[in-house]
Amino acid sequence: MINIALFGPPGAGKGTQSEFLIKEYNLFYISTGYLLRKEIEEQTKLGLDAQNIIAAGGLVPDEIIVQIIEKTIKENSNVNGFLFDGFPRTYIQAYILEGLMIKLNTSLNCLISINVHEEESKKRLTNRGKTSGRSDDNEEVIRNRLQEYNEKTQPVLNFYREKGICFEVDGLNSIDEVKFDIKTIINTEFKKQLFNIVLFGYPGSGRGSQGKVLAEKYGLEYIATGSLLDEEIKNNTEIGKKVKYFYDNGLLVPDEIIVPLIEKKLENANSVRGYIFKGIPRTFVQSYILDGLLKKHKTSLSKIIEIEVPTLELIKRLDQRSQTDSSMPYDSSTAKIVQRLQDHQNKTIPVIEKYNELHGVVKVNGMGNFEEVFQRLCEVIDNNG
Ligand code: AMP
Repeated sequence: MINIALFGPPGAGKGTQSEFLIKEYNLFYISTGYLLRKEIEEQTKLGLDAQNIIAAGGLVPDEIIVQIIEKTIKENSNVNGFLFDGFPRTYIQAYILEGLMIKLNTSLNCLISINVHEEESKKRLTNRGKTSGRSDDNEEVIRNRLQEYNEKTQPVLNFYREKGICFEVDGLNSIDEVKFDIKTIINTEFKKQLFNIVLFGYPGSGRGSQGKVLAEKYGLEYIATGSLLDEEIKNNTEIGKKVKYFYDNGLLVPDEIIVPLIEKKLENANSVRGYIFKGIPRTFVQSYILDGLLKKHKTSLSKIIEIEVPTLELIKRLDQRSQTDSSMPYDSSTAKIVQRLQDHQNKTIPVIEKYNELHGVVKVNGMGNFEEVFQRLCEVIDNNG
């Protein structure tokens, strides 16, 4: 879940930007101003209580705001995230929002302040008043609204500055420029939320077949160095030709070839929820590379899993695979199979041990049929601990 609050004086362009943001990021829009106007239209008790205050440009009491917000959030708790417009508008409301988010087991990711000076606000609201039909878009009320903003709303910024989640954009720029700046902030937030898994295991442990199905189930991008390399071979690219040599000799492909392929994948995946890495990292060097690449894309590893299968079973599976259509070039002889198992033992096991010390590696029993192992893996992924 990603939750964002748009902040700024009346007329800063919060409503305009919201229209685009809710579509782009599939967020549920909560504008307290809009909700209040609806209550007034429907002549509810809340609406009647708020009516005169709004008409005079004052701020509606926090007790009323908390009721309408809580009702709306409760009715829509399954959404992708919320976009708040016009809330929180007082220091107290900032605390209220904290409490509401905790109830949903989530939090506000960022507050984006669209900065516009008072003269510009006044000008925009006066212009809007000519067409908006809003009774509070007239000169006297505008003056009051701006005064309320300066006295009660502006201090809210400090609350979020102290928390380190306040971002500011220049609202005097064009709508498209403001949109771009906001998007940059939100995309960074999304990346922090990516869920990234490394699936370790000896060749033949089922990482590949499980990884693909897991990626599908959890909406993650599956990144298997083996498949990326196969693709290059299939397309007979320059890289592919080099890779073939290493494959044919049962050798590990050098990092200089792997890194740009992974980098390309990370750069081209814009709206993913995270990645499942299979076949990387295989060496100490690659573990540093992967950590660095993820850091560069402002994310990190969320879960590291090792599928465990006894050696004799691995040999049996790899031998069986070599006699089927899914045989890989590196399955073609016993010597190559043994070489791969040895490579894993010598180079990759120490990497798993290092990760285990640093972050903890979850071991999953890889014996049994596909579905049984899949269920065990899902349990590990679903368990957020
Ligand atoms: P808006 O549509 O956000 O400009 O809000 C219009 C009016 O609704 C404001 O001038 C306030 O009177 C009232 N209002 C909207 N949101 C809030 C809030 N969070 N707290 C208090 N009053 C609000």
